Amino acid sequence: MLSNSIIECFKMRTWQNEWLNWYAEHRRDLAWRNTKDPYAIWVSEVILQQTRVDQGTDYYHRFLDRFPTVSHLANAPEKDVLKCWEGLGYYSRARNMHHAAGQIVATHGGQLPADRDALLALKGVGPYTAHAVASIAFGLPYAVVDGNVSRVLSRLFLITDDIATGKGHKRIEQQALEILDHRDPGTWNQAVMELGALVCTPVNPRCGDCPVSGICKAYIKGMTDELPVKSPKKKPRDRFFNYLVWEDPGGIHLTKRTTKDIWQNLYEFPLWESDQPVSGPEELIEAMPSYFRSGKEKIIDHTSITHILTHQRIHAVFCHVQSDRVIKQPGIERIERDSPVAWPVHRLVQQYLVKLGFIF
Ligand code: SF4
Repeated sequence: MLSNSIIECFKMRTWQNEWLNWYAEHRRDLAWRNTKDPYAIWVSEVILQQTRVDQGTDYYHRFLDRFPTVSHLANAPEKDVLKCWEGLGYYSRARNMHHAAGQIVATHGGQLPADRDALLALKGVGPYTAHAVASIAFGLPYAVVDGNVSRVLSRLFLITDDIATGKGHKRIEQQALEILDHRDPGTWNQAVMELGALVCTPVNPRCGDCPVSGICKAYIKGMTDELPVKSPKKKPRDRFFNYLVWEDPGGIHLTKRTTKDIWQNLYEFPLWESDQPVSGPEELIEAMPSYFRSGKEKIIDHTSITHILTHQRIHAVFCHVQSDRVIKQPGIERIERDSPVAWPVHRLVQQYLVKLGFIF
């Protein structure tokens, strides 16, 4: 007579196989699924955090064309790495990868280590990225947990803990490890994530097309809409960015954001951040360093744009002035109208420069 644990094991193997068959048939043909290069897999995993697949694919190809190996990335100036990342957002990902590439060259001879703890020691690499690279590139038995996995597992196993809390996340991690298929952990992890991306979607999951609906507790109990439990996001913080767009004949001035804040080490127009909205362009110009004030400047535009980030709402004002003076001050760079913008800028500033006819 078979013991209960053997029967359970057998059942699990059966639905794991169904899940893997579904993945083999329905998986999207994504560029990073056709490589075993740990570096390329790492790049794809970092890009895809916080980024849609269609947008991320272009950046993935561009990044690998520009920095084909860890050594190329490590040896590049940070400015070039940020330029390649321009428009993708969450720029700390690029800065951290650049730093981590230096660590890999210094400590691992330029090859990503096939070891979870060594991966976790790299700057910016957390459990998700370490487990993804370890399992997909090296076949090591680590389970990944991202938003898709959390949603699928909370529904499948009726996990009602808030997945935004440490306790809820831990519970999902344990469950992910319990069902990890050790025959091919990398393929298994991707199959779980793919089900979350294509079938077990945040709203209106397509349970009729799901290979594991027969064992899904939320589906059986009619609770798919109630899971996962997630505490509401905090209200974003309002910030007021006032930019002076200083145009001399043929060029515009930019400065580097050096403080530990959003968009660190990217370039933008000279900025004054105020506690509340400014009354008008005169107040904005008055708040700028004195070398920007001669009284002869002509204000030709004063535009407001609200830019939404995950935790911040940026109320930006662009005061565009024309002057016959070129500003030569430490920390002020000048971009020419007729050549492509070489400095990495964030999207808010990029949009305004594109409006003015600058080329990217
Ligand atoms: Fe998700 Fe529905 Fe499949 Fe359950 S049955 S895992 S809710 S798609």
